[in-house]
Amino acid sequence: MGLLKEKLSWLCVEETAERRQTMDYDKKSDYDFQGEESLFPDRETRETFRNHFIETVRPLIELIDSLRLIGLDEDIGLPSIAVVGDQSSGKSSVLEALSGVALPRGSGIVTRCPLELKLQRLKNGPWTGTISYSGHRETFNDPLKVDNLVREAQNKLAGNSLGICDELITLEISSPDVCDLTLIDLPGITRVPVSGQPEDIGDQIKNLILKYIAKSETIILVVVPCNVDIATTEALRMAQNSDPEGLRTLAILTKPDLIDRGAEIDVLNIVQGKVIPLSKGYIIVRCRGQSDINDRIPFDKAMEAELEFFRNHNYFSSLLNDGKASIQCLADKLTKELADHIKKSLPTLTVQIQNKRLDLQRELKNYEQGPPLEEERMGNYLNDIIMEFSDQIYELSRNGHSRDKNIYALLGDEFKKWDSRLRSTEESFKASVIEMIDKYNEKHRGRELLTLSEFCEYECFIKEHVSTLEEPALEMLKQVREHD
Ligand code: GDP
Ligand code: MG
Repeated sequence: MGLLKEKLSWLCVEETAERRQTMDYDKKSDYDFQGEESLFPDRETRETFRNHFIETVRPLIELIDSLRLIGLDEDIGLPSIAVVGDQSSGKSSVLEALSGVALPRGSGIVTRCPLELKLQRLKNGPWTGTISYSGHRETFNDPLKVDNLVREAQNKLAGNSLGICDELITLEISSPDVCDLTLIDLPGITRVPVSGQPEDIGDQIKNLILKYIAKSETIILVVVPCNVDIATTEALRMAQNSDPEGLRTLAILTKPDLIDRGAEIDVLNIVQGKVIPLSKGYIIVRCRGQSDINDRIPFDKAMEAELEFFRNHNYFSSLLNDGKASIQCLADKLTKELADHIKKSLPTLTVQIQNKRLDLQRELKNYEQGPPLEEERMGNYLNDIIMEFSDQIYELSRNGHSRDKNIYALLGDEFKKWDSRLRSTEESFKASVIEMIDKYNEKHRGRELLTLSEFCEYECFIKEHVSTLEEPALEMLKQVREHD
């Protein structure tokens, strides 16, 4: 009940905040980033325009972040951008380029929990990072720590093996070198489990991805390498299933430097939306390849090299002017898309928050009354509580793959120990039963059918056996309770 009240008071605060933000937003003139360079040729005007853009967009992004922080996304869908793609398609490289921070990478499954990356651009000031997950929060000033801290968080949430978990890790980065953006990175799609991974890892990952992309409030960022057949990629197929009209899907094509010679025209057609049309379109980017990383090429140099690559490309140079190529272009487009998306979602969000508030108020009222005093209503009340309890236990035991939530995973070891204890007494129990029956037969040789008192003898024997199990059973119960 305390939790409910707390959530309700948050909803009231947030709703007022939201109204205020919407009003502020409406006062401001609309923004558009496209063609900014040609509209404002001198640098100073362009900088003013950019700052105005940032000031307009930031309150919207911050508003949604603050709603997510209080856990409202569990109740209603909040506008967000989810990054999906096959393993090694280049997701981390794109996020790295956008954030300027080296994220964990390597072969195989690296992203094992959803990672919310909140980027906040500062006018000036030092680089600051904050990582938070399941009650833990830590602020740090060294970008090189990101990799280890994210790995540590994943190990704590998803275990040290290669499993995944659906609990969110949030990484906030404030710096003058990032754009204002919040993205959620998801584990890469994989088909074949490697050793140490559960058999159904592919399905677990797909379910986790679906949880995010199925919501109509999510912009789906599909990352696809240029050097594969895009139409057959699982990530795009999943996006198409969740967003059949392609209204909220934006595709990023990576690794343009690895295209087979002769396939450039095909890729160009894809970027221009001639093959699979998406209303938010395509952007092609070139990130740091493995050799750039080995050579420790810094991000800013890599971005210059990227622009150089597109400028000099026989087929793709025109894409640069069309706003369809480069990380910079992607950052601008994503920020604009997210802000537009938030602005469009605000009215429905307000309605959803109001409805949720009414629901909670109604629920709260039920609790305030407490158990009914009239005898004829007591039965139903008790019944409801028992049903609710059993639903929650059912939910707890079935739901989630997270070790923290799944009661089977959590208590599996205890039950295994109990099972082997029972099995270890099986043989001696059988032997004692046979011995008892033999003794009985010996004693009653020549008599007729068993009488009730003789059944009692058997019952006493069983009771005695059960009583020897009582103490270990209570001990196990204690262990289970201590698991919280
Ligand atoms: P993820 O599994 O989807 O996160 O993929 P990664 O970002 O870890 O990328 C997989 C590999 O592709 C890494 O070795 C990257 O360095 C490399 N890579 C990513 N983008 C590019 C690119 O544009 N060009 C080249 N040559 N390699 C890239
Ligand atoms: Mg990755």
